[in-house]
Amino acid sequence: MRLHEYQAKEVFADAGIPTPDAALARTVDEAVEAAGDIGYPVAIKAQVHVGGRGKAGGIKLVENDDEAREAADEILGMDLKGYTVDRVLVEEAVDFVNELYVGVTMDRGEGKPVAMVSTRGGVNIEEVAEEDPDAIAREHIDPAFGMHQYEARKVVYEAGVDQDIAMDVASILSTLYDLWEERDGADAEINPLMVTADDEVIAADAVFNLDGDALFRQQDLAELEDEAAEDDLEAKANEYGFDYVRLSGNVGIIGNGAGLVMTTLDLVDYYGGKPANFLDIGGGAKAERVANALDMVFSDENVDAVVFNIFGGITRGDEVANGINQALEQFDDIPKQVIVRLAGTNAEEGMEILNTDLVQVEATLEDAVQAAVKAADEVEQ
Ligand code: GDP
Ligand code: MN
Repeated sequence: MRLHEYQAKEVFADAGIPTPDAALARTVDEAVEAAGDIGYPVAIKAQVHVGGRGKAGGIKLVENDDEAREAADEILGMDLKGYTVDRVLVEEAVDFVNELYVGVTMDRGEGKPVAMVSTRGGVNIEEVAEEDPDAIAREHIDPAFGMHQYEARKVVYEAGVDQDIAMDVASILSTLYDLWEERDGADAEINPLMVTADDEVIAADAVFNLDGDALFRQQDLAELEDEAAEDDLEAKANEYGFDYVRLSGNVGIIGNGAGLVMTTLDLVDYYGGKPANFLDIGGGAKAERVANALDMVFSDENVDAVVFNIFGGITRGDEVANGINQALEQFDDIPKQVIVRLAGTNAEEGMEILNTDLVQVEATLEDAVQAAVKAADEVEQ
């Protein structure tokens, strides 16, 4: 479970980590009022569960009421990578000279928590990790003892943090570790941890993801989860009763049964494609469920082609095929190429029934996946 930046900052601030003066706003008027109270310049920041908000236009620095009004008006209601912004954090702007990164997560390879520090904060830390892994200093922590002061100092020192602020950064890191442990964190991160000209160190962003299996003992944090925080498509999936996970690729995947969908996902990857989602429509494939599933992948801007992997079991292949035909007939124009692979009971009859004006039919899963990867590639070019 993910907390919003403003929620995570409250948790961090309560634990003693310095954060900027801030207020949450749900309307333009509220945002302008908050900005006036805090005092300009302020940063207006979209509160959605995506990184890279700055680049995507979800963060604006403003100097006066007019600018604040304009920025809040622009950001509230905007679509940020599939999330509609319904609240903004209005925050005292930090005049910084440096941006650091500090984070705590579980290193599954080592079976231990790891604390990380980098002087290359402010940017996407995953990219830094790939391009220049040495730019991130790491220290594994023995969870039986917690983080010792010397370990915090060691990793801060190894990252090359300035002497003048090293002790403050170490203390923030050890507070972050304690929070991560006590509050059942999955990932805790401050990026950027801003450094000002007079050597103040302030958490300008905050990420705190909780271990979903531990929510029962973190009631107060669990209550912060809200419907609005969900991805629009995830909300739709809930409504339709589908198991759905958004992924980052462009090949839409629909199947019945989790194993079948996972297999399709793996094959898309195997043939050089990138899955856009995991979507399990469950048992059977009645026209309505098929139509709902297609509605989901068609409304996903990232999807360039769709592979439908259906196994006719209790719902037989001919019924499934009729369902797919009926579902597709409901669309005036089919926006993305759909490739179907049908197997199981009455699969042959099903393939006969499928309307090839609307879908491409492939006899094997391998062929269907390869066709979808190819179709998606062609759209992207
Ligand atoms: P993210 O991109 O979604 O992780 O959002 P962040 O909160 O990390 O902000 C991204 C970038 O916006 C920061 O690295 C800064 O460069 C800039 N930014 C955010 N808040 C402030 C602020 O208070 N003052 C200034 N000058 N820049 C800010
Ligand atoms: Mn950030």
